[in-house]
Amino acid sequence: MQDYVNELMEIVEAKNPAEPEFHQAAREVIESLSLVLERHPEYRTAKILERILEPERVLIFRVPWMDDQGEVHVNRGFRIEMNSAIGPYKGGLRFHPSVNLGILKFLAFEQVFKNSLTTLPMGGGKGGSDFDPKGKSDNEVMRFCQAFMSELFRHVGPNTDVPAGDIGVGGREIGYLFGQYKKLRNEFTGVLTGKGLNWGGSLIRPEATGYGAVYFAAEMLASRGESMEGKVCLVSGSGNVAQYTVEKILELGGKAVTLSDSSGYIYDEEGISREKLDFVMELKNQRRGRIREYAEAYPSAVYTPADANLGYNPLWDHKAQCAFPSATENEINEQDAKNLVRQGVYLISEGANMPTMPEGVDVFLNNGVMYGPGKAANAGGVAVSGLEMSQNSMRLPWSREEVDNHLRRIMKSIHKTCVDMAEQYGTPGNYVNGANIGGFLKVADAMLQQGLV
Ligand code: NDP
Repeated sequence: MQDYVNELMEIVEAKNPAEPEFHQAAREVIESLSLVLERHPEYRTAKILERILEPERVLIFRVPWMDDQGEVHVNRGFRIEMNSAIGPYKGGLRFHPSVNLGILKFLAFEQVFKNSLTTLPMGGGKGGSDFDPKGKSDNEVMRFCQAFMSELFRHVGPNTDVPAGDIGVGGREIGYLFGQYKKLRNEFTGVLTGKGLNWGGSLIRPEATGYGAVYFAAEMLASRGESMEGKVCLVSGSGNVAQYTVEKILELGGKAVTLSDSSGYIYDEEGISREKLDFVMELKNQRRGRIREYAEAYPSAVYTPADANLGYNPLWDHKAQCAFPSATENEINEQDAKNLVRQGVYLISEGANMPTMPEGVDVFLNNGVMYGPGKAANAGGVAVSGLEMSQNSMRLPWSREEVDNHLRRIMKSIHKTCVDMAEQYGTPGNYVNGANIGGFLKVADAMLQQGLV
């Protein structure tokens, strides 16, 4: 079977050159699934894995727009429609200068398994642009979003492909994108999720990814008879996922002591209280400022600027029990993972997508760390997006409690699937294998049943 893994990886690397993040995500999944293919040769005969690795459709398009000074800019837009075996393509849009085809393909690929794990009928997709919203005026962001949707509207729709937010795409951007879609199509439909509450959005959608990552952590702890009460937690990022991760940690009696952005991080030994979190939300969501300002406002905090030459991130080198990476991919390398273990961290719940490099994952698994990979731990966001789609179809909004109860139930069910699958396939406690296998089986069976399409 190792030969099969190596041969398949050779094909993936040859067919998708210069896409290291996609190779990384593919290798992890293929290795987990080799356990399944040994028992189920029918998937191998039907080349299910080879088919899942090839996007159903990739769209790349020009996005021309004009800044406030009248200068013309040209960005590149993408939408990867990866797999629609169990529902319409579903996955976020990312606006960040680092966006390229390989990054979006890795995210779309992960999304297929994640969406399957939620138990809801959603296929996998991802998209975005190399546009950088940082430092742009609201009008510039609006013009960019309108230009982006002026092409994307041809390819998406409530029964075809339903994008949402991701890095750099929050409520403001979803609003402008939705407005342009509605104007071009002349229809009011649930084509995007993460919408405003008074025009089709769902309660708890902004909170869902962060809350879900903490619910997943609570489930992992409960499996050892523990709870979040009193746990010291390291959190990276300071955007949507990080903010609501801290909020739920606080609610469940834990203490978050770090937050970051791409310029640096703060360590607040006293803990990030409700009042301090409100400050961060205002800083990041309204003023769009830098996390450094937290340490200027609260003397209990120390700010450390990012240093790419250091070879590790000092944020992950503080005493704690739990860590919630919530910024971006590959933010925990082998050294960071060793530092985390040395500092006493025994639970990782990934709010971000693929934040841990493969060598780091090995460190966690070899040291008995409870390691919840992103495709399981951060699935709460897309799960509530799925619930937003249901509410849009019914034209009936649900209460906060109702959505939160669904979210809890779904995170519990994802945790159980991971535990059960890891056990069934002979690797008890390995949430990586559990998530990959659990996500795969449903999609693979649907593909078999739908024939060679
Ligand atoms: P936001 O744009 O709201 O926040 C992103 C945060 O991460 C910011 O603090 C940003 O800092 C930091 N960051 C982004 N890129 C980098 C980088 N290259 N290096 C260092 N820091 C960086 O995004 P989200 O909170 O929505 O997303 C965070 C992660 O969670 C991503 O991996 C995303 O894919 C994942 N995720 C998000 C979901 C959602 O519902 N939003 C759902 C599931 C997963 P700065 O402002 O300086 O760039």
